Amino acid sequence: MITTDPNKFQAIISHAKEYGFVFPSSEIYDGLSAVYDYGPWGSELKKNIREQWWNSMTRMHDNIVGIDSAIFMHPTIWKASGHVDNFSDPMIDNKDSQKRYRVDHLIEGYAEELNKKGHPLEAENLISEMDKLLAASDFAGIKSLIETHNIKCAVSETCNWTDVRQFNLMFSTQLGSVAEEANEIYLRPETAQGIFVNFLNVQKTARMKIPFGIAQVGKAFRNEIVARQFIFRMREFEQMEMQFFIRPGTQKEWYAYWKEERMKWHTGLGFPADHYRFHDHVKLAHYADAAVDIEYAFPIGWKEVEGIHSRTDFDLASHQKFSGKKMQYFDNEINQNYIPYVIETSIGLDRMFLLTLSHAYTEETWTKEDGKEDSRVVLKIPPKLAPIKLAILPLLKKEGLPEIAREIMKDCRDDFYCFYEEKDTIGKRYRRMDALGTPFCVTIDHQTKDDQTVTIRYRDSMAQERIPISSIRDLVRQKTR
Ligand code: ATP
Repeated sequence: MITTDPNKFQAIISHAKEYGFVFPSSEIYDGLSAVYDYGPWGSELKKNIREQWWNSMTRMHDNIVGIDSAIFMHPTIWKASGHVDNFSDPMIDNKDSQKRYRVDHLIEGYAEELNKKGHPLEAENLISEMDKLLAASDFAGIKSLIETHNIKCAVSETCNWTDVRQFNLMFSTQLGSVAEEANEIYLRPETAQGIFVNFLNVQKTARMKIPFGIAQVGKAFRNEIVARQFIFRMREFEQMEMQFFIRPGTQKEWYAYWKEERMKWHTGLGFPADHYRFHDHVKLAHYADAAVDIEYAFPIGWKEVEGIHSRTDFDLASHQKFSGKKMQYFDNEINQNYIPYVIETSIGLDRMFLLTLSHAYTEETWTKEDGKEDSRVVLKIPPKLAPIKLAILPLLKKEGLPEIAREIMKDCRDDFYCFYEEKDTIGKRYRRMDALGTPFCVTIDHQTKDDQTVTIRYRDSMAQERIPISSIRDLVRQKTR
């Protein structure tokens, strides 16, 4: 049974800070809302997730190559993509509290209350009325719907609302030194457009034939209003996107293929299949003819981690129109020129990071042989993603043990991330490594000097055994691949 657990979520946030995974941005200045920094182990974990995704796309598919396009792009790109006109949410402000709400969230929240009070029919009617008004962009109608139902701000508890306004989620800035409107550019709200505008460059230079894909990982920026829930919804975040270019008419089969392929990637990393589900979009974005979310059972409930979208030829056709440059492909198998259709897979790296912590964070308590209680917090991160793969721990700081440990470190650090520590008791050092998710620790003791063996300790089972020094590297390499 999958249940939400807000306490666990809070514990993960504290743990992430205390153990150097994620810090609030600009903390000494009281932070910046919905912006976060990754610490030593967080940046390592993030890099490992990124690498797994990148390799699974580019190395494991002959027909997918990567790019790294700039964050700044020509402003017309965002006109062509529809983001200038459509990438906005209708918002309303309460004049007394100054608090801003997305109108759909405000009305849905009220409908939820009606449900709880035993008025499901009223709630249903309210939502369907809202859907109709939103579909017609009737913002005056939305405002009067809020007023007729006397929907109040949670902070001021008044119904004193401004008009409903569209609030674009893109950040803008000025290019060059003169603040004229013509110089206004945007921070990209998705990485996908950098792929679309380079479609022909890549196709020609990498000699790609349809079907083929272009992958990219990079920062994206959205001025999210409901900025909350830790790194789940950020204003600056990282996306891992792949656009797969196909022959028009084949989109259904490729959409099904990528749905399955992406789910396999998640479960292949070692995350449990019963924590995943697909959620089909009912209301499609302006560019899509089909869309599905891959959702994960986070401690805060089922939430989207990745989207798979059948984007038709919307983007390329639109860039062709706005730029006046042909965005067509000559398919010599059927002797035809066409604008390819596209299936997109788009996953948030930060959300995948949060998913990893949500899965890994475990509090354990047990009774020891002497009858006393013991406990630990352990991050059961899949070994291939773990920030540190091997901790090398000399039992004492003297008697030649650190020297042997340093030799092991020298032998292994080229192959995977090793961490050397000689401070504190061995028990404390094991607990610290559990808290960082380190799958293997080796301890060097006096016996090591006699027989060249060490004790290896396994994170999840806490089992220990002696193995020869000469086998450490291969064992860890094999189990963290
Ligand atoms: P949501 O409905 O949660 O706002 P979305 O449907 O707008 O997300 P997409 O535009 O499909 O998201 O972006 C693809 C992926 O990028 C999402 O599945 C998510 O993992 C990630 N993502 C989107 N917005 C954010 C954000 N503000 N912070 C962190 N990750 C994000």
